[in-house]
Amino acid sequence: MIKTLFARLKQGYRTMPLPVKNESLPERFLGRPCVRPNISKEDCQKCKIICPTGAVGIEGDGLLLDLGRCLFCGECQRICADKAITFTREYRLAVKERKGLIISNKPEQNSREVKKRIKHIFGRSLKLRQVSAGGCNACELDINVLNTVGFDLGRFGIQFVASPRHADGIVVTGPVTKNMRLALEKTYKAVPSPKLVIAVGACAISGGPYIGHEQTNDGVDSLIPVDLYIPGCPPHPLTILDGLLKLMGSAKC
Ligand code: SF4
Repeated sequence: MIKTLFARLKQGYRTMPLPVKNESLPERFLGRPCVRPNISKEDCQKCKIICPTGAVGIEGDGLLLDLGRCLFCGECQRICADKAITFTREYRLAVKERKGLIISNKPEQNSREVKKRIKHIFGRSLKLRQVSAGGCNACELDINVLNTVGFDLGRFGIQFVASPRHADGIVVTGPVTKNMRLALEKTYKAVPSPKLVIAVGACAISGGPYIGHEQTNDGVDSLIPVDLYIPGCPPHPLTILDGLLKLMGSAKC
């Protein structure tokens, strides 16, 4: 027992304060991308060609990058000597509308405003049921990490529960495979109204690397309405946490 107490004293307080400084994220972390203006269809388009999910497009005189499809592999940044696309270290990426995930050189389109209705209804308590709808377990693991002492999700009043009947909403990962469609729809129906749906990761938002595959449904919002999109492959736990806090209206970051 005494050894345990000494170990606890030595370890000190391990839960991270929020907001986290972008610089403290690991060096390999890729956050919100920026796209350079004045790229036309006559330019090399290497970034568009190399992207495995078709996340990069060209419209008018500028590049578009769909964060809902992006795997954050960084290939588009690596291949371009002119730095048409560069990734920043901004981890706050969650949005409530799908169109907010389109990055362009136009002024900020992303709406990160708090849903007042959600704050009013759910206050400072949010119970969520997780549904893995054909995910590879990467997003699921980064959601699980939020329950560790480092992130301590419970301090914000957010908890994952076992039954959808005890939940305020569902957190969906995976591209929603044909096999998981019925399970997802039943789980959604079992959550009492008003309810929230949160799509975590490129697969749940758009199908990710499985876009167009006959065995998937290309993400959650083809079946049920989504209240929050959290992009990434998988999203960093801080990106998920920031999204959940934004949804509750309690984020100060
Ligand atoms: S980082 Fe995203 S946009 Fe760039 S190549 Fe990879 S998937 Fe495509």
